[in-house]
Amino acid sequence: MTSPDIIVIGGGIAGISAAAMMSEDAEVLVLEREPQTGYHSTGRSAATFIRNYGNATLRALNAASEPVLAQPDGIAESSLLSPRGELLVANEEELDALKAYAAGGSGIDHITADEAVQLVPILKRDRLVAGLYEESAQDIDVDRLLQGYIRLLRSRGGQIVTNSEVVAIIREGNDWRVETKGLSVTAPVVVNAAGAWADIIANMAGVQKIGLQPFRRSAVLMAVPSDISGAEKWPLIASAEETWYAKPDAGKLLISPADEDPVDPHDVWPDDMVLAEGLHRFEEATNFPITRPTHSWAGLRSFTSDRTPVAGFAPDAPGFFWLAGQGGYGVQTSPALAALTHALCCGKSPALATEVVTAISPARFALG
Ligand SMILES: Cc1cc2nc3c(=O)[nH]c(=O)nc-3n(C[C@H](O)[C@H](O)[C@H](O)COP(=O)(O)OP(=O)(O)OC[C@H]3O[C@@H](n4cnc5c(N)ncnc54)[C@H](O)[C@@H]3O)c2cc1C
Repeated sequence: MTSPDIIVIGGGIAGISAAAMMSEDAEVLVLEREPQTGYHSTGRSAATFIRNYGNATLRALNAASEPVLAQPDGIAESSLLSPRGELLVANEEELDALKAYAAGGSGIDHITADEAVQLVPILKRDRLVAGLYEESAQDIDVDRLLQGYIRLLRSRGGQIVTNSEVVAIIREGNDWRVETKGLSVTAPVVVNAAGAWADIIANMAGVQKIGLQPFRRSAVLMAVPSDISGAEKWPLIASAEETWYAKPDAGKLLISPADEDPVDPHDVWPDDMVLAEGLHRFEEATNFPITRPTHSWAGLRSFTSDRTPVAGFAPDAPGFFWLAGQGGYGVQTSPALAALTHALCCGKSPALATEVVTAISPARFALG
């Protein structure tokens, strides 16, 4: 495929899901730098769907994505979601954050501190003032989601080339020439789904950057002691100000310091001090015994200044499409963003409301 209709740069969930959808109407080629798809943020997430997570635009994207994740026709045989629930807990200082989360949300129950401890008995009762319980929060099977989109893409004739780092993007007439060390391909449309590297890709193409900032977020897996029973049924628990969170994961407990340290895009790993401080915050809020983690990792959550994803054609470069800035929501919003990318790149009407399409358009940065 030396001259596809659309070249997608980035084989994470954003690029792969969009490529799979667009391959219904177009010849699509995905170029991924790493030897495998999903190696960066996509393979390092907490794999959770939370309907009320994020601002109003994100909540609209979450709502549009949920039916696809629940009934992924053409992507997987059965639902990619499974029940989990989310419990947000607040001490006296975090009550405002709790109120802000509940505002404008749906399906959120206010619960007492006693009820919170009944749900998750490791919580320290004396520190708690109130809680919110969101029953509809669910686990996402990220691997099945990604593999399902890959199968769909390939069944429609789309291609993924791994070990293919894009090193140059040149405007040639009405096309973009995209070069890796071993390939040179042209297409009228390039989709920039390069995750934390999306501004670097724009710079390569001479397109105005969107001011993307990658932030490191870390997590550990810790064994659940044998005298604690029923842990696999706990909801995801988080402090209202998101200073830590934890969730059961394959018989262990995933604990995150919910760190958000700005870094340059790179193959990120956790900082020992950040992990230690985060685990200390978790230890202050719970009676869970902190031992040596069985595994630790970090990934990048990349945000623009308004913490809202960016999807749409660049106002300053014909055929250059942005699909970036998904922050901490890129897995759960991928079906809606992939459908929007498909619509806009293949000349169809978007299913999303106009105000949502406008809110995520890269044109908002051109104005600034
Ligand atoms: C700890 C953590 C927890 C998270 N939890 C959740 C969660 O519970 N729910 C949720 O929805 N989201 C969560 N997220 C966020 C989510 O993981 C991301 O928003 C999402 O994975 C972004 O997908 P992406 O495809 O844009 O990026 P990536 O998966 O990073 O993919 C971008 C790809 O582009 C490739 N690339 C870059 N430059 C080039 C180049 N020059 N040439 C070729 N390829 C290139 C990279 O190699 C990479 O594979 C979490 C993130 C982290 C770090």
